[in-house]
Amino acid sequence: MTSGPKSRDWFARALCVQPGGVDSPVRAYGAVGGEPIVIASGRGATITDVDGRDYLDFVGSWGPLILGHAHPAVVKAIQAAVRKGTTYGAPCRQEIELAEKVVELYPGIEQVRFVSSGTEAVMSALRLARGATGRELVVKFEGCYHGHVDHMLVAAGSGLVTFGQPSSAGVPRDFTGLTRVLPLDDDETLADLFAREGDRIAAVIIEPVPANNGLLLQRREFLQSLRDYCDRDGALLIFDEVITGFRLGPDGAAGHYGITPDLATFGKVIGGGMPVGAFGGRAAIMAELSPQGSVYQAGTLSGNPVAMAAGLATLKVLEQEDGWARLEDLGARLASEIEAVLDTTEAVVALARIGSIFWLAFGSRDLPRSASALAGSAAETYAPIFRRLLADGIALAPSAFEVGFLSLAHSVRDIEQLAAALQRTLGEP
Ligand code: PMP
Repeated sequence: MTSGPKSRDWFARALCVQPGGVDSPVRAYGAVGGEPIVIASGRGATITDVDGRDYLDFVGSWGPLILGHAHPAVVKAIQAAVRKGTTYGAPCRQEIELAEKVVELYPGIEQVRFVSSGTEAVMSALRLARGATGRELVVKFEGCYHGHVDHMLVAAGSGLVTFGQPSSAGVPRDFTGLTRVLPLDDDETLADLFAREGDRIAAVIIEPVPANNGLLLQRREFLQSLRDYCDRDGALLIFDEVITGFRLGPDGAAGHYGITPDLATFGKVIGGGMPVGAFGGRAAIMAELSPQGSVYQAGTLSGNPVAMAAGLATLKVLEQEDGWARLEDLGARLASEIEAVLDTTEAVVALARIGSIFWLAFGSRDLPRSASALAGSAAETYAPIFRRLLADGIALAPSAFEVGFLSLAHSVRDIEQLAAALQRTLGEP
């Protein structure tokens, strides 16, 4: 059993009143067995469950908590904002300041609009791309997850891959009829699609660092070819940087690869642990949005001062404390510690890592670059390892296909603790 008695009691109550006992599917531990631990608090790199057990947390709420849980600067900023009201439904200083910060840091963005989740950011960016180009087709890649937007729920990653679902019920076929799905890392099918339908494509959307179906690191040339085809045929390139934005660096995957998209979508880190998403691009494209343009988009709680203050505080700490360089150092240390463990074991597993994002590819000796290259045995191999690590006080994501995250709250000792626990676990039959 993965969870303690109090977690089990709470989860039994949840099962009565919530489908699957959760608000987001992978949280339910369906792919790893057992029942989820119910969390009472988080501080730094540690989460504590309702039974009072501590875990070293490498999930970080699935990416937002780049400073760790309850970082004092973020808590202070939220408290200061909340005393003045939680939402006005009118412009406020915090949203303008955060927009200025995004424009300053991210390449090619001149204007930005805030929403309340990554899903909303993607949904809005795609509508904008269609409105701005007057075209209807959108292209996505197998295994990339772009939130639960209806027409993106085809061959998607995250919860869908965790549960082996190709797509979602409830999405009419007609809704996905304008979505083209391509394999990652495949130059030929990309060339074919653009040859056939290039002049009908409004947008190509990709996670430049696909991190929802394992971590399928791409060749830079593949990403560059997307840029080139879009330029040639007048389509917009959208980088979905919901995971990588303000995590890989101030300029995200765009900066890492030196490729500037036309539009970028954000979530997670930009909200500092509050519900925030954003999308942005050149002013000429963003001008198509309502009220200036004719592409409608809106939100009651968009840009609310509390969430904006949390995002601003997070970015300020990252800038002031050389955060991105420190995260890269921590990531490099994690890679060397884990690789040393993997060298001593018979287990077939490889480590993928970029900055502070990492993934253990169970069943693979070489790092996969596309969904079809993933090992079929990964889920089965991972489940007992996940449970043993949890019993050892280490919380990784409850799915073989979800990545792990480091935060500035993690220490070298924490990384050594993870490596030691992995060593023990992999040594067991
Ligand atoms: N895009 C990517 C790349 C994501 O990883 C996610 C969520 N994990 C989303 C979009 C959707 O974001 P949200 O869960 O905030 O709606």
